[in-house]
Amino acid sequence: MRAFIAIDLPEEVTAALVRLQSLLPAGRPVAEENLHLTLAFLGDQSEAVLAALHFELETIRVQPFALGFSGLGVFGGDRPRILFADVGTEPALADLHRRVTGALHRAGVAVQRARFHPHVTLARFGSRATPGTAARLHRFLSDHGDTPLPSFPVTGFGLYESTLHPSGARYNLLARYPLG
Ligand code: ATP
Ligand code: MG
Repeated sequence: MRAFIAIDLPEEVTAALVRLQSLLPAGRPVAEENLHLTLAFLGDQSEAVLAALHFELETIRVQPFALGFSGLGVFGGDRPRILFADVGTEPALADLHRRVTGALHRAGVAVQRARFHPHVTLARFGSRATPGTAARLHRFLSDHGDTPLPSFPVTGFGLYESTLHPSGARYNLLARYPLG
């Protein structure tokens, strides 16, 4: 099954992100219940591999920590693909990410080498995004890019299944790993 590892967000954070989404001039907003911070995308994995991974993730010992946001950003530049809320650099998050990556290695999951850029995806733009879309998005960023977003405590992370549907992905929590 298609799987990923993510930190979910408390209600006051999703509420603030949904308020920002409601001001968007373009794009497909991520459904409120799908807002999350991805630690690792696993792609399609067998149940045996996920069972091994579950065992490894359960050994992770990290204290709870606080995270904050550092503004909004866009992946894709003048061909915007994704609007996201940038999650600030936080050593405890980098440490958790390293440990998750270690668990993936031990479970035999091939890990992408791309640099970890922690973010919460807020909206997606189709490949047909026009220069007009980019301009309106740029305007949105200059108007709302510094909207304060609440910091939040990270008390755990989860292993999720994702099933793709024409109406959007649906996530199902397979297991949760509390911190501390
Ligand atoms: P959809 O693909 O229908 O737009 P989605 O991206 O939310 O929905 P998935 O594609 O299953 O659902 O992705 C689950 C999570 O993993 C999301 O946070 C997504 O951004 C992230 N993700 C997906 N593919 C990759 C990838 N190749 N590299 C890094 N992260 C990815
Ligand atoms: Mg996707």
